[in-house]
Amino acid sequence: MNRNRTGSHIEKLQAERAQTLLKLTHLQEALRSEVDPEFDEGDPDLVEHEKAMALAQGLERKLESIDYALRQAQNGAYGICERCGERIDPARLEAVPETTLCLKCKVVDERRIRMRAIPVQI
Ligand SMILES: [Zn+2]
Repeated sequence: MNRNRTGSHIEKLQAERAQTLLKLTHLQEALRSEVDPEFDEGDPDLVEHEKAMALAQGLERKLESIDYALRQAQNGAYGICERCGERIDPARLEAVPETTLCLKCKVVDERRIRMRAIPVQI
């Protein structure tokens, strides 16, 4: 059935993982080799440093979700929404291979996060 399609998504996921890990390693090395960690307020180097830190954090989070999706794949649950159990749209997996939520659940999730940010009016 869809076995081959799922296989290619997992290959993509593994390639993405290797790439993300490589980027993260380079970034961490660059951050470690910074000669002067003492920055002044408004120092352009500080801005660069913070950008690099934010990027590294983003990559770490991405790596975590890729690992999670790969674990799901080992359980044979790759491409299945972990919330509603529906099959995730292959086009969505193509675009975001590390996702474990279908688009519907993702939208609900984001709406919930937004609603949490707004005080409830009674
Ligand atoms: Zn779902």
